[in-house]
Amino acid sequence: MSLRHVIRLAVVATAVAIGGVAVAAPSSAATCNGYVGLTFDDGPTGSTSALLTVLRNNGVRATMFNIGQNAQNNRSAAQAQVAAGMWVGNHSWSHAHMTTMSQAQMQSDLSQTSTAIQSATGTRPVLFRPPYGETNSTLQSVASSLGMRQVIWDVDSQDWNGASVSTIVANAGRLQAGQVILMHDGLQTTRDAIPQIMANLTSRNLCPGMISSSTGRAVAPDGGSTPPPTTPPPGGGSCTATATTPNVWGDRYNTSVTVSGASTWAVVVAITAPQKVVTIWNGTATWDSSGNVMTMRSNGSGNTFGFTTMFNGNSSARPQIRSCTAG
Ligand SMILES: [Zn+2]
Repeated sequence: MSLRHVIRLAVVATAVAIGGVAVAAPSSAATCNGYVGLTFDDGPTGSTSALLTVLRNNGVRATMFNIGQNAQNNRSAAQAQVAAGMWVGNHSWSHAHMTTMSQAQMQSDLSQTSTAIQSATGTRPVLFRPPYGETNSTLQSVASSLGMRQVIWDVDSQDWNGASVSTIVANAGRLQAGQVILMHDGLQTTRDAIPQIMANLTSRNLCPGMISSSTGRAVAPDGGSTPPPTTPPPGGGSCTATATTPNVWGDRYNTSVTVSGASTWAVVVAITAPQKVVTIWNGTATWDSSGNVMTMRSNGSGNTFGFTTMFNGNSSARPQIRSCTAG
């Protein structure tokens, strides 16, 4: 990993619209006159769990631009990002200077990264941030062909450059509705700045949002569920649910979810509309009013359940595991 964003292009580039968003759930904040995209690059790291704790304690949902080899080496940390309500994007396999690569090398790098992230989290990224913000038209078209929109940033927190907590907070104070800020996983200063960043945003009626894969701008979180609770519900033990998508066809795909740590459980899974679940097995499902959030409970058929989802025009989104509760 590298935090040396010394060479970068201040480019907010255009790319084709990609249908679908990565996750479904609204912010719980009451007054949101606009949304901003908080992004954390270069994870997952050994301190991802510390970052997630700060984010959840401050009611923040953010976008994590993961490095592929980090996701492969820290699978549980990548899973924890999604379980905490974060969106995950592609930040290349090894943080190389990608504009020096051939088109084939770009394709291989980004594809390998998305596969590693999907393997760890159950979700294939729909957003791509080039390392150092360095890009060109070939790289953008490769990202597009892999179903990802390129996202740079409007505000650089300078956390990678040794900025103090107060400087990071001041830089975040420049954020306007729709804009995106660059921060990083792995820095104590960044974590320490988050409560003050949130206080500033709240005072301006701005809320953390998701980054639209159509426009690259920060928008309201999509869908119908609330983020998982900060602490497990009373009496409910913890368990872990891991999703894979073993079968993908032209119009549908199968998801297989394996639960560990409990033999009776309830797993909450969010689907991105207009995708629709048409078949389930090895569990008992109930749905929320939006029809996009399924709670699957064990029914004596073991610890692996599954379901078939129709694309309905969105072939990129994958189900989000929202929580796993034992008992
Ligand atoms: Zn980076």
